[in-house]
Amino acid sequence: MAMRGNKIIQAKMVLLGDMGTGKTSLVLRFVKGQFHDYQESTIGAAFFTQVLSVNEATIKFDIWDTAGQERYHSLAPMYYRGAAAAVVVYDITSMDSFVRAKNWVLELQRQEKPNLIVFLVGNKADLEGKRQVGSQEGEDYAQENGLAFLETSAKTAQNVNELFYDIANQLAKIV
Ligand code: GDP
Ligand code: MG
Repeated sequence: MAMRGNKIIQAKMVLLGDMGTGKTSLVLRFVKGQFHDYQESTIGAAFFTQVLSVNEATIKFDIWDTAGQERYHSLAPMYYRGAAAAVVVYDITSMDSFVRAKNWVLELQRQEKPNLIVFLVGNKADLEGKRQVGSQEGEDYAQENGLAFLETSAKTAQNVNELFYDIANQLAKIV
């Protein structure tokens, strides 16, 4: 195994977004390499750790997934307090979820955390035939708001590793 630099970064990452957009599925795809068509929405450990090595750094992610509280369209501020990165997820087949994602972005902007890394993620990219939110629409909104942007599929694994490695690389740069 190649030796890496010895910078070790512990980083809290939170997932935000409407219920059913695939937050838990993205985490399970990344952490366990698994996908379930009937992901139980309110059950689960809601907390995962994962270690990633990128150039010069080892990132220890504490990943906070919701346990269904997003149903009420609000999360206690303690959920994202202290987070180094936030992933705001919408479902490309649901315009409502995109509108909701924008609200989460506003909520994060209100926290005034200039170093917070925010990724906007359009998930379920495998469901092209049911798409309601254009790629360009997501991309434009992200660009206007200074967010990184990716379309993913927890089902096919499209861009899932990229998402977490991109975040790790950004963390390695700023810390
Ligand atoms: P959460 O409420 O945001 O945590 O969403 P879940 O991870 O529980 O996923 C909600 C539903 O969407 C489940 O039935 C998943 O199987 C499904 N799902 C999640 N991600 C994808 C995806 O990328 N593609 C497809 N086709 N279905 C997905
Ligand atoms: Mg969930």
